[in-house]
Amino acid sequence: MEFEKYKVMQFPRDVIVGHSVMHTIPSLIPLYSRSDEIVIITGNTTYEIVGREIEGMLKDANYSPHVIKTGDATYDNLMKCEEEARGVKPGIMIGIGGGSKIDLTKKAAFDLSVPFISVPTSPSHDGIASPRASIKKGPVILSENARMPIAIVADTSILIKAPYRYLAAGAADVISNVTAVLDWKLANRIKGEEVSSSAATLAEYAASELIEKAHLILPGVEESVWLVTKQILASGTAMAIASSSRPASGSEHLFTHAIEMTGKGKAIHGELCAMGTVASMFLHGGDWKKLVSVFKTLNISLKSSDYGLTDEEVIDALSTAHKIRPERYTILGESDLSHNAAQRALEITTII
Ligand SMILES: [Zn+2]
Repeated sequence: MEFEKYKVMQFPRDVIVGHSVMHTIPSLIPLYSRSDEIVIITGNTTYEIVGREIEGMLKDANYSPHVIKTGDATYDNLMKCEEEARGVKPGIMIGIGGGSKIDLTKKAAFDLSVPFISVPTSPSHDGIASPRASIKKGPVILSENARMPIAIVADTSILIKAPYRYLAAGAADVISNVTAVLDWKLANRIKGEEVSSSAATLAEYAASELIEKAHLILPGVEESVWLVTKQILASGTAMAIASSSRPASGSEHLFTHAIEMTGKGKAIHGELCAMGTVASMFLHGGDWKKLVSVFKTLNISLKSSDYGLTDEEVIDALSTAHKIRPERYTILGESDLSHNAAQRALEITTII
């Protein structure tokens, strides 16, 4: 039989992380674009904190930045951003913000076929370095194919301004790789799904770094932001190697998406990942107690009620999460997890 395997991997060209690195942005532009026209997608608050300064730096370097201030990552906002950006005909786009602005830029840049620079202002999840965008259409959150950033500029002096809760959540999103990889290996055994061992190893490494160094992830310490951001970027690289979110997204993310889709409660992405990864580790028969203590160190609660969720909503999400992406085989299986099993996972993991 002829050899027919092939794989496409997309990586960012420049990843710049550390103190005050946003000042490198003007010098990056000519590497990727011959046009002076730049579209910046950001939000009102982020514009005041950092967007205005970046706009000023670009103007000083004789570029023509066009700022689009938008809101949540909804399909309507995406259409508005794309329409406005098309009128500008930018050579490059820059997304400045937490999750939603980066998601909108990622997808808009993909649709307009222009490169984009990711400038995260919150270290709260691994989407800042991935090629997929979560866009909300009505009640449904779509995980859309989008563009990998051509450059990531993660300035720790900006990221430190986000509340500690976001940093802890970002760490939890990376730590959840442990169950994502267990699910991937399970899918390999049960379904014959291909596993990239380099991607799996890197994803596990990123998680283990943060598990071991959880006590160093502290509020108000820029080095803590550095620690977490580096592993968020490593997670992104694992996804790039795999050409899929598989190494960083398994049953714990299916659970997370199941809750996110209900729109209930006020937990942020990484906090749901923390709950999901503990429950999933329990179902895998692994060391879930260690995860519970790590999340405690990060001051992340695993109790549904702390997020305005009822136990029943969490049990329901855990039982039915397998339906969200049926092609992604995980420990949650292919039929509803029994109510008893889900309830037990919830009770045991939230007792400590
Ligand atoms: Zn995530």
